[in-house]
Amino acid sequence: MCGIVGYIGDKNGIDIVVKGLQRLEYRGYDSAGVAGISAGKIQIVKKNGRVDVLRQTVEDVKFSSHVGIGHTRWATHGEPSDINAHPHISHKGKVAIVHNGIIENYLSLKKELQKKGKVFLSETDSEVIAHLLEEVLENSAGDMIAALQIVQRTLVGAFAVVILSVDEPNLIYAIKKGTPLVLGIGKGENFLASDGTPLVQYTKSVIYIGDGEILRLSANDFQIYNSDIQEISHATSVLEMEMSMIEKDGYAHFMLKEIYEQPKTILDSMRGRIAADMSEVKLGGINNYAPQLYNANRYLFLACGTSYHAGMVARYVFEQLCRVSCEVDVASEFRYRKPVIHAGDAIFAISQSGETADTIVAIEEAKHHGANIFGICNVVGSTISRVSHEGAYTHAGVEIGVASTKAFTAQLTVLYLFALKIAQSKGTLTPAQIKQYCSELHAIPDQVSEILALSPQILEISKSLKDIHSMLFLGRGVQFPIALEGALKMKEITYIHAEGYAAGEMKHGPIALIDEFVPTVIIAIKDSNYLKVLSNIKEIKARKGKVIAIVNKGDDDIKGIADFCIEIPETSELLAPLLTTIPLQLLAYHTANVRGCDIDKPRNLAKSVTVE
Ligand code: GLU
Repeated sequence: MCGIVGYIGDKNGIDIVVKGLQRLEYRGYDSAGVAGISAGKIQIVKKNGRVDVLRQTVEDVKFSSHVGIGHTRWATHGEPSDINAHPHISHKGKVAIVHNGIIENYLSLKKELQKKGKVFLSETDSEVIAHLLEEVLENSAGDMIAALQIVQRTLVGAFAVVILSVDEPNLIYAIKKGTPLVLGIGKGENFLASDGTPLVQYTKSVIYIGDGEILRLSANDFQIYNSDIQEISHATSVLEMEMSMIEKDGYAHFMLKEIYEQPKTILDSMRGRIAADMSEVKLGGINNYAPQLYNANRYLFLACGTSYHAGMVARYVFEQLCRVSCEVDVASEFRYRKPVIHAGDAIFAISQSGETADTIVAIEEAKHHGANIFGICNVVGSTISRVSHEGAYTHAGVEIGVASTKAFTAQLTVLYLFALKIAQSKGTLTPAQIKQYCSELHAIPDQVSEILALSPQILEISKSLKDIHSMLFLGRGVQFPIALEGALKMKEITYIHAEGYAAGEMKHGPIALIDEFVPTVIIAIKDSNYLKVLSNIKEIKARKGKVIAIVNKGDDDIKGIADFCIEIPETSELLAPLLTTIPLQLLAYHTANVRGCDIDKPRNLAKSVTVE
């Protein structure tokens, strides 16, 4: 979701900020803008649409400033437009702000400020921050830190706010609560950004700003204060990112690059976590909370979107391998359904970015009730990784494609490792079974490579979907969440209406949709549900539906009935989601391509959803 970039130093900050905004484009946005100080005044350029339009405009007007703040907006309050784009400037032009998040009490603040004569230009919630700050600054004799403390306490909601002040042209300020902000420390220049991607080109030395903190930044120095205005020190972290990770590397799209990275990323997510003789799983991140993990009476998986599908797979796996009751829920529902949480419940919070607002709030609530939280995140140092008791990183590397692929298979891999570790400790699997699962898991990356080689065949199948409006994805058992994930990928990037269903539910409704124009993708590998799924295929064919089946190699029975078969290698039933999901990713990718969709920037979507 939205991106923030800030720069202060001896270079043209506007150029650096705009380049940084381009790095953040993957997060999803609809408009972009930048502010700097020139001729003693705050200057702002902001544009609806792509960052490239902004870049062209700042070049045309030769906008230059040693300090800059920039923003890509993902509209929550007010339509995407030039006026609603950030930065927003205060009534008297003293301060400009960019804001990521939502100010929940903006209406009452706006009314009060309007009564005092402040004129609002935009429909956004964010603009109140600029007017409020200017007003509070006047009453604080221009003491910005004191004013920011008051503003921080007044605002309700989630925010990362970066501020420029005309009276302090050599400083940038920032406050934050609930949405991410990273300080990048350079030599004679400093940076701010929503994540590491705009920073890695300049520095690897970073500090993650904490909630409630106030930052003052100059070219050579910075101070961080807590909410009581006491200066605090933060250890610097090393940004674990390389430039090659954030470039396309010859692939047409980031999504394709990331699909192809999976043999390596799946291996990376299990690297060092399986003993060389395959006899055991070792999870370095689980130390102090190991007993709480092994002895929990219940496992709960909380997540959103694709990560939720990983949680759904985990429910099947944990129940079967660890013989403990499991629940899975979307974080935004869990939080509001007044869930029964027992002290000692083990909760897995799954999130690629580790910044998913709904998941953060849900685990905070669960923690409050005595649950133990195990975070499974891809982004090192992210909020969920910090607020969890313990956990494991997925080590998939930076994921830029909005439609998650490699992060999903890395989440699955880590969840399998957790399940095996728990089963090992509880004795619900024999040492021989553990060894068998570990060996099969270890063989997955090569099997994924085999499936990737089917890409040209899958492209041909995609051509038959070019003009389709609606389709179904079916799977049974542990393949049901993969059907949901296949449908999600398809709708995210092709805009085809795609519904995922448990194959057994087909007769209870969705079969009514089937005719020759509504194709069905069905996962029909040789697992314990095979014969039932075979019947489902027959039922679809009897109604003239087109069938694209994911089958095991050499399955001639289904080849005789389905319109298209994608043949994949075999593994054990519970691990098969790691394989069946790959052709579905390629199917969505190629279909989006043949339909001419903007694959890396799908409409309306944000990569990391940092608002509830
Ligand atoms: N709520 C703000 C707006 O709609 C900021 C949204 C964002 O995070 O981009 O302008």
